[in-house]
Amino acid sequence: MKDNLLWVYLLLFPVTIFAQSDFNVSIPSTHYQVTFPNAIHHEAEISIVYKHLPDTPLTVTMSSSSPGRYAIHHFGKNVYNVKAFNGENEPLNITRIEPESWQITKHEGTVKVQYTLFANRADGTYAKIDDTHAHLNIPATFMWAKGLEQFPITIQFEAPTNSQWKVATQLKATSHPFIFKAPNLAYFMDSPIKLSDYSLREWSVQNPDGKKLNLRLAVTHNTSEKIIDNFAKAVKKVVLEQQAIYGELPNYDFDSYTFICDYRTGIHGDGMEHRNSTMLTSGDNLTYNMAFLMGTVSHEFFHCWNVERLRPASLEPFDFEGANMCNELWFAEGFTSYYDDLVLCRAGIHTLDDYTAKLTTELNYVLNQPATGLYSAVDMSQRALFVDAASFMDETNFQNCHTSYYPFGSVIGLALDLQLRSTFNNVTLDDYMHILWQKYGKKEIPFTSQDLENVLAELTKEKGFAESFFDSYIYGTAVNDYKTLLGNVGLLLQKKYPNQPYLNRCVLSFKKEQGFEITSGTVKGSPLYNAGLDIGDIVTSIDGVPLKEVQSLQKILKSHEVGDNIEVSYLHHGISYKANVELAEDYHLEVTTYEQAGQQLSNKIKKMRTDWLSSKISAAQKESLLLDENR
Ligand SMILES: [Zn+2]
Repeated sequence: MKDNLLWVYLLLFPVTIFAQSDFNVSIPSTHYQVTFPNAIHHEAEISIVYKHLPDTPLTVTMSSSSPGRYAIHHFGKNVYNVKAFNGENEPLNITRIEPESWQITKHEGTVKVQYTLFANRADGTYAKIDDTHAHLNIPATFMWAKGLEQFPITIQFEAPTNSQWKVATQLKATSHPFIFKAPNLAYFMDSPIKLSDYSLREWSVQNPDGKKLNLRLAVTHNTSEKIIDNFAKAVKKVVLEQQAIYGELPNYDFDSYTFICDYRTGIHGDGMEHRNSTMLTSGDNLTYNMAFLMGTVSHEFFHCWNVERLRPASLEPFDFEGANMCNELWFAEGFTSYYDDLVLCRAGIHTLDDYTAKLTTELNYVLNQPATGLYSAVDMSQRALFVDAASFMDETNFQNCHTSYYPFGSVIGLALDLQLRSTFNNVTLDDYMHILWQKYGKKEIPFTSQDLENVLAELTKEKGFAESFFDSYIYGTAVNDYKTLLGNVGLLLQKKYPNQPYLNRCVLSFKKEQGFEITSGTVKGSPLYNAGLDIGDIVTSIDGVPLKEVQSLQKILKSHEVGDNIEVSYLHHGISYKANVELAEDYHLEVTTYEQAGQQLSNKIKKMRTDWLSSKISAAQKESLLLDENR
């Protein structure tokens, strides 16, 4: 809460404020009440009681965006049956003044607004209600009042009769298990809520200053308690490995951090960071996919430092009705992506082979995207509004003009880490994150791109290096020399299918009796793109041979070599055309270890790889994990 705003309010509305006896300040209050009488059909009934309102019209609104997600979502589309009442429960006039805002012009200081919410998508952005749970992302669920952003909020739930629902949230608990508090709107909006019969694991982690913080793992699942125990053990390892990078856990509000997980059929795969919690969702089963699901756990937990507290200045204040454009998502999301898998490798949850497979996926994507080398990391970050779970009716050309800032930033993090390790004695990206944490994150001072560059200069004691790195790879469009950098840690980056011909970099969908329809945009520089073919065209024959079977295309390509010209017949708007297409060399890359390639690892390389990938947690912490393992 920003105290100065309360004083502005006191000056503006002195009569209302001091009307109470003993000079108790009656500030406006917001109380939400939530019931689920029609949960099976995904509805909640929500009422909000506002008290001590100033004598001005009250405007309530649904958000259009949600913290951690950068696209616009228009949550107002799923609320209806909006009504207003006074303190005596008599109807008040309420008018929809904008698609997502309603106004009550006349009232006497107490107003109850009520509405029905429909919610049927469980992920990090939306909400879902059914007979098994209520999964509530706050901006997708609750209206809020303009002008009351700085005032405290309480919320109360009534779980369906005979349900075993409990509440998992980062909101401040009270003595009542279904009543919670938030100090202000920004905190409330950042606090997702799960009501279900979840399994809970709790443990504490000590910081170097002696303070113990409470970690909670609330999992809604269809698996066994034994699996949840194993999951908790893996999560504990991740927590400690990440604590080692920054030197400490953040000082969580109310001393607690909550992993809110739902892994069941019908749940959408996602992960969303919040200040003292994360919402982790997937339709995958924890029994079979735990190693995969740990990737999101690691990613979102890393955000409790990087993004939630070590925060780009452009994300503050968060605009719940619009979009915050952020130049630093290559760092906020990209460096977090670099660390999510690195940490799993250090924690022994992923093997070196798992890790090189992840590097293969990322480098394949980034180095083969036409936009890489044309647009900067800042350009990619600025497009988040259009690509982060955004949906549009019209087509985009992202396959040719955009490289996702997640893998793009991740491999920049990889390059910077390997460059620091090989150029500067005993300096690593962990050190960089640690200094940034101390300087900005811990003190919650929002940073700019220039601050990131300055800290790199401070760390390396070479201003020229920092300047050149940022000018080349962050503001500029240069691409790091990944082959050389990976060689420093005994990894090979090479073509996966050398001298193999390829035809397309787009989705070809087989259509019986017709051939292969191009169902995604063709990629610039690929053979079909160069020959003028595009989405919607149907390739009917090659070299006069009709493509009547699914395997026919591969069979024909196998009989050719890189550089061969083939004749492609295709339908474009239903009319038959022919084009000469030159086959190119397969573009796929792969990362392998020197050992797999039969190459020797020098002692220097061996040491550098070990320093990079080995566990960073203390002997005492290892001991405690071991005890836990054997329990
Ligand atoms: Zn993220």
